[in-house]
Amino acid sequence: MRKKIVAGNWKMNLDYAEGISLFSEIVNMVRDEKKGDQIAIICAPYLHLNSLTKLGGNVVSIGAQNCHQKESGAFTGEISAKMIKSVGCEYVIVGHSERREYFAESDELLAQKTIIALQNGLTPIFCIGETLDERNNGSYFEVLKSQLLNGVFGLSAEDFSKIVIAYEPVWAIGTGLTASSEQAQEVHAFIRKEIAAQYNDETAENTSILYGGSCNPKNAAELFAQKDIDGGLIGGASLKSRDFADIVKTFN
Ligand code: 13P
Repeated sequence: MRKKIVAGNWKMNLDYAEGISLFSEIVNMVRDEKKGDQIAIICAPYLHLNSLTKLGGNVVSIGAQNCHQKESGAFTGEISAKMIKSVGCEYVIVGHSERREYFAESDELLAQKTIIALQNGLTPIFCIGETLDERNNGSYFEVLKSQLLNGVFGLSAEDFSKIVIAYEPVWAIGTGLTASSEQAQEVHAFIRKEIAAQYNDETAENTSILYGGSCNPKNAAELFAQKDIDGGLIGGASLKSRDFADIVKTFN
């Protein structure tokens, strides 16, 4: 049985006090609403991570939003996977479209980040997604396939079984334009088929594939009811405790 996951991505929002306060609210709400083996995660700015893992990491798991691809060294201003792990984080987002676009992160670089995260005991949440042009010109399956091929399909089956995939159509991120449940399901089924072709049916069946892009308490139920959608990666709505907790509750 694959894991049901709701992960928040706070992006570059909230100063330290705001982050602590929002996270405390989220923990209190999610404590009552999370069921069974369902997983709730908050991916916070680096600065907040150490405090958040101590505050409620047993209820809501903590992830970073990025890591450096090297183990350590002279990379001024960077944060390693080992450092992230050392403060109690379990997850790290790799390949968010904002990193791909604004920081020119290539599939090859993201493959390295995925490997270093795994080597340090973090679960990568590996993001893929097409732009509006790629959706409109019909090339989106090819684009997604190439992101998988060059980003994560170099992993052994054993390593691949430790990662989470997030499908985040770029045109749906922060735009209020959600992919319809049919559009999202179509892509999730495609991703699962590609995983089965690259590895095997069992690996494909066990991989959690999250949807991200203007997911909110109103549309989460329909999205999460789709056969191949195992949860969500939530941006804007994770900045509101009630909204995030309501999305978590969607699985109940
Ligand atoms: P929004 O939910 O704000 O569209 O952001 C989605 C996202 O980028 C999560 O990583």
